[in-house]
Amino acid sequence: MSAFEGKSVLVLGGSRGIGAAIVRRFARDGAQVTFTYAGSPEAAHSLASETGSRAFLADSADRDAVIERVRASGPLDVLVVNSGIALFGDALEQDPDAVDRLFRINVHAPYHASVEAARRMPQGGRIIVIGSVNGDRMPIAGMASYALSKSALQGMARGLARDFGPRGITINIVQPGPIDTEANPENGPMKDLMHSFMAIKRHGRSDEVAGMVAWLAGPGASFVTGAMHTIDGAFGA
Ligand code: NDP
Repeated sequence: MSAFEGKSVLVLGGSRGIGAAIVRRFARDGAQVTFTYAGSPEAAHSLASETGSRAFLADSADRDAVIERVRASGPLDVLVVNSGIALFGDALEQDPDAVDRLFRINVHAPYHASVEAARRMPQGGRIIVIGSVNGDRMPIAGMASYALSKSALQGMARGLARDFGPRGITINIVQPGPIDTEANPENGPMKDLMHSFMAIKRHGRSDEVAGMVAWLAGPGASFVTGAMHTIDGAFGA
């Protein structure tokens, strides 16, 4: 029997990159997978037909849309919150509305989705949020709002682990370092700088992150909660 046969999994932000690898991994392992998308309907529909999963439009910047999608997905065995954006540039020049939108997507959505999912999750339910090694280490200028958002997830996981633990639900943060996606292509201009911080001098692959997510969602991680799990080639070491 496949590892997640009969399990219901929702991935927020699953159309591309790391999220798509997570959708593929759970679908391959037998789960019934639902995922959301916002700006990439073609990629979402193509992934849904490739994997037999279901795709729904839900903007993670819209709190009510996020809560409604979690509610409509029924009792979940696994929630993965992957949707996230970055803003680059001088903090003194950034549009405060753009910064607040980042906080809605990267912080508010994970919090409200996690709480809503936990309302109806069974014993053994798993919540996994994609943070970043930048929650621990931000070695370049121009990304303070992103670093703030990913650090905030650490406090969220520590706190919600206390709320959910008595009900047998775990919550964990996966903190990738540079991963080769459209948001951070390995052949981009930052390649040499990023690799200079690392012990394994390459970008990670989305499927490597999906593997850690699958482990956290599986039976081997039943005693793991309120914790940060870094997968970064020692970027943050
Ligand atoms: P991509 O930009 O390649 O993909 C982002 C995914 O999130 C897409 O599926 C996108 O869907 C979805 N998404 C973004 N905004 C929204 C929104 N408002 N509502 C719903 N879905 C949304 O990014 P990555 O795959 O690289 O990153 C995924 C996660 O991993 C993020 O949280 C990011 O911060 C984190 N991360 C990435 C690293 C990297 O080096 N790549 C390193 C550390 C962390 P759509 O296109 O349909 O809007």
